[in-house]
Amino acid sequence: MAGESGKRTEISQLGEFGLIDRIQQQFQLKNPTSVVGIGDDAAVIDTGTHFMLVTTDMLLEGVHFDLSYIPLGHLGYKAVAVNVSDIAAMNGLPRQITVNIGLSNRFSVEAVDALYEGIRFACENYKVDLVGGDTTSSASGLVISVTALGEVEKPRLVKRGGAQINDIVCVTGDLGGAYMGLQVLEREKAAFMENPVMQPQLKSYEYIVGRQLKPDARMDIIHELKELSLVPTSMIDVSDGLASELLHLATHSGVGFNIYEENIPLDQLTYHTAVEFKLNPVTCALNGGEDYELLFTISQQDFEKVKNHPDIHFIGYVQNKEKGIRLITKQQQSIPLKAQGWTHFNR
Ligand code: ADP
Ligand code: MG
Repeated sequence: MAGESGKRTEISQLGEFGLIDRIQQQFQLKNPTSVVGIGDDAAVIDTGTHFMLVTTDMLLEGVHFDLSYIPLGHLGYKAVAVNVSDIAAMNGLPRQITVNIGLSNRFSVEAVDALYEGIRFACENYKVDLVGGDTTSSASGLVISVTALGEVEKPRLVKRGGAQINDIVCVTGDLGGAYMGLQVLEREKAAFMENPVMQPQLKSYEYIVGRQLKPDARMDIIHELKELSLVPTSMIDVSDGLASELLHLATHSGVGFNIYEENIPLDQLTYHTAVEFKLNPVTCALNGGEDYELLFTISQQDFEKVKNHPDIHFIGYVQNKEKGIRLITKQQQSIPLKAQGWTHFNR
């Protein structure tokens, strides 16, 4: 469809981020209570004593999930977890959610029950209340959109912008697993479609399949940072892959990064499965996405507080913007990291 002027530009020319930038440029914040608008992991609203955080994410059947391999309960849980992850990325605590669903007549009451069982489980786990939503019919399968509201003490707010030169770049957990889990699920689905007698062989891939189907927001890290009196200088959650998230932090903070390939955390199973699929394991971590780990920067003075943490990995440091975002390979080569993955990096 063309716009009102009759001019037509393909969305693919701008890309998702370009399109969001374009929308953002058309709106100025008017209310003094709107502290952060479009562009961070969550919007920030000044409520007086605290900042309120608001974030929303929509999942569409056939685009974000395939019901032939994700059980409805897991999908409900994941829809909440991905929003809680964006609240965590602002260093906040989730408090409430609303849930919008679009249902086609393929879905039964029991199916909706299963979806909400997962949502309920997530509400218990993250200590959030389901406070509303909307229900409509859908012509194109299942749609689920969750909005999460959270809270953060004002001095503890962390944005994407704020990384300072010489800060240490930290990432939690391990990366690339959710992407490799998806590759396994898709392979097993294709084998099943070809020969329905074949049962999916998932047992030995349990960890990475779990990373894809049951992601968890790293609220544990947010609580620990508070106990350590540590406020990161910048933070984002890893939803699209390390490379893309580094680019966001760099753009918002006006800095560059040096990232060391050998420090990028990979689980053994992710590594071996990537090799089995003839993929570069580091590429899976850089571009895979859906890991929902936290990527953040801390000042050098704070390093002592977390240096022995078993699940926080130190992958590089912040440098001058002019030096760009660079990956130092295991062979000590320095190569530029691109948003849409890496072009010069081959094993
Ligand atoms: P995340 O991956 O952390 O969920 P997104 O990349 O989805 O973040 O969105 C980045 C920013 O753009 C967020 O601040 C989000 O609220 C905003 N945003 C995304 N889509 C739209 C839209 N259609 N209209 C207004 N703001 C949007
Ligand atoms: Mg995010």
